[in-house]
Amino acid sequence: AKADGKSRWALYDPDRNAKEVARFTLSATMPAALERDEFYVDYQPLVRLEDSTVVGVEALVRWQHPEFGRLAPDRFIELAEETGLIVPLGRWVLRRACEQARRWREEFGESAPFVSVNLAVRQSRDPELVRDVKRILDECALPPNQLQLELTESAIMGTADEPLEALRALSEMGVRIAIDDFGTGYSNLAYLKHLPVHELKIAGSFMEGLRAADEEDAVDVQIVSTLVQLAHALRLGVTAEGVETPAQAKRLHRIGCDTGQGWFFAKPMKPAEIDEMLRR
Ligand code: C2E
Ligand code: CA
Ligand code: CA
Repeated sequence: AKADGKSRWALYDPDRNAKEVARFTLSATMPAALERDEFYVDYQPLVRLEDSTVVGVEALVRWQHPEFGRLAPDRFIELAEETGLIVPLGRWVLRRACEQARRWREEFGESAPFVSVNLAVRQSRDPELVRDVKRILDECALPPNQLQLELTESAIMGTADEPLEALRALSEMGVRIAIDDFGTGYSNLAYLKHLPVHELKIAGSFMEGLRAADEEDAVDVQIVSTLVQLAHALRLGVTAEGVETPAQAKRLHRIGCDTGQGWFFAKPMKPAEIDEMLRR
């Protein structure tokens, strides 16, 4: 345990203590969990608003914990970032997703969806990143344009130059780069112009105001329209996340947004369920 006063005080807060113990247990058992294959990946469709085609799927990791049951990434991704386990875990997700993309490619050919994989800040700064991605694509015999990497603004626009160089190399290989949760972080718009990015993903938090199809003046509508226009001015594709209602989908289409993701279209699901969707 840490010896500073704050942590010691925490010992007398039973709630906080229990949380700390749970955190510690999770982070301590994560490496073995990776070995034992307790993680798995669900996929959520990215749907073209124009014609409802599934153009891509986002890979979302879960942990089937023997004691605590199914854990959402919010429970363990941050921990994995802190311990550094995110690097091997993220690499595992990447491989898993590329293997799956390869299977879709075999079955559905040119109309197979690309897979979109989240990249943690720590991964974006990992000197092995480009080599890892290249090796995985090679081993899966997957065309690089069937892979998209999602990074948050902070992962891209941090302090160091390394992530940028890595992104340039990946982009030159043909891998698609998306900015995740766009509009919620620190964005340097002047900088955006020079980034090797293909897609902006507008954070789901802006969808709330799009609920009513007739609320022309809602602030969220203005924000989303502006972000869509910005993306298109930069010749980038744009995806809206967290689309939950038909009104939101309709409004987004009218605004000119290219792609939607959210419960209205489909929840994250098993590969077999994606297969079914693609066959329809
Ligand atoms: P994210 O990248 O923003 O992923 C979208 C999250 O929104 C997912 O949560 C998804 O299940 C949820 N979602 C989808 N549609 C809707 C909707 O209509 N309404 C609402 N309210 N939510 C919706 P999930 O799967 O719990 O993942 C949470 C976060 O964990 C992700 O947010 C991402 O930042 C992170 N994450 C997930 N998988 C990975 C991974 O393999 N690596 C890394 N580094 N992070 C991951
Ligand atoms: Ca994401
Ligand atoms: Ca997101």
